[in-house]
Amino acid sequence: MNDILPAEAELWEQFEEIVRDWLRAYGYRPIRMPMVEPTPLFARAIGAVTDIVEKEMYSFEDALNGEKLTLRPEGTASCVRAVLQHNMLYEGPKRLWYMGPMFRHERPQKGRYRQFHQVGVEALGFSGPDIDAEQIAMCARLWDDLGLNAGGSIRLEINSLGQSEERARHRTALIAYFEQHREELDAEAQRRLHTNPLRILDTKNPAMQGLVEAAPRLLDFLGDESIKHFEGVQQILKDLALPYKINPRLVRGLDYYNLTVFEWVTDKLGAQGTVCAGGRYDGLVAQLGGKPAPACGFAMGVERLLALWQDEGYENETLPPDAYLVHQGEAAGRFAFRVAETLRDAGFSVHLHCGGGSFKSQMKKADASGAQIALIIGDDEAAANAVSVKPLRAGFDQPLAQSKISFDELADRLGDIIFSMEDDNGSL
Ligand code: ATP
Ligand code: MG
Repeated sequence: MNDILPAEAELWEQFEEIVRDWLRAYGYRPIRMPMVEPTPLFARAIGAVTDIVEKEMYSFEDALNGEKLTLRPEGTASCVRAVLQHNMLYEGPKRLWYMGPMFRHERPQKGRYRQFHQVGVEALGFSGPDIDAEQIAMCARLWDDLGLNAGGSIRLEINSLGQSEERARHRTALIAYFEQHREELDAEAQRRLHTNPLRILDTKNPAMQGLVEAAPRLLDFLGDESIKHFEGVQQILKDLALPYKINPRLVRGLDYYNLTVFEWVTDKLGAQGTVCAGGRYDGLVAQLGGKPAPACGFAMGVERLLALWQDEGYENETLPPDAYLVHQGEAAGRFAFRVAETLRDAGFSVHLHCGGGSFKSQMKKADASGAQIALIIGDDEAAANAVSVKPLRAGFDQPLAQSKISFDELADRLGDIIFSMEDDNGSL
């Protein structure tokens, strides 16, 4: 679990701003769920024989009433729970998103943390391939908005998991196939052979890649309806000239998916290359006790995207205050507070010096703050109800290097001074 220090947190904020604008452009509204849910919610939604539920959940008993609780390992189950609890689908389909920490007890490594963050996007009550394709297209737009996809460094893989009857027939074929090759299976695959054989296809064990590549393909077991849906998604991707690859072994690690699944993958992050993943989960709403409603969603790993963003050369931008206010003396200190608040009322950002010290040392701090100007208040200024203004940045060609301005005029004059300085610096 990581601390995110100011320089990095600023980068997160820049990222979040872009993400919010992007979601608004597609009509998604925010929702915020608690970080803790009853454990059975995840077991029911994600599936008992999955990496997450088998070994990655932080679960504990509430010391007061013994209730079994879990720190959320992902957001979809919580989101659907909230939607049902508040009967939100009553009014019709919903487009929702959230952002926040998720918790999984994993072996920490680059791009894999125990507290990590996701942006989750869920569309509930939509059945057609249009929403699947729109969600995929919106990811592509975000990569563009972030300037991430130079040279197509994030590629799209899609697959269809069909419906449960189709998966059942494929499963039978898959088990028969793996049983013929039992000696080539690793321990995990042996264990999963009869519980969740589909997940064997998702193995990261290089020794099993050949075996898995030659395994029966789920795509060959799809019925007409499933194929039609998959083709519908692909048609829109083609219309939008969005390149994609069908990966028949893309099965996703959670049980709730059906039909369309997709992942956005990059080679730039080593083994942890999936930056975004999702798909359709038409059965989940009913599985969690709601009236059946189709749905489709995806989640992005914020840490991985930010690593890519930094890799592309993006840096945090520290916004300096407009003014740094230095002061000395008791009357000056009290006046300084009034000045600072008045300027903030007028919309300026003001860093008020706290903690005393000589004018000289305070001016050093003013300079280091990156502020455009220093505001100076000593006994003289306090007595005259005025403030001395000293420009700190190059490019200021006002005749007065330092001028005294009366309190009443300060907000107006400060605007002009800062404006002319930015003008000279060419930053406006
Ligand atoms: P992986 O195969 O890498 O374990 P996953 O299938 O478990 O991924 P999802 O549950 O689909 O991942 O989560 C969506 C995204 O969240 C991932 O594509 C990834 O970007 C991010 N993510 C998942 N687990 C972690 C983690 N432990 N640390 C950082 N990011 C993660
Ligand atoms: Mg995982």
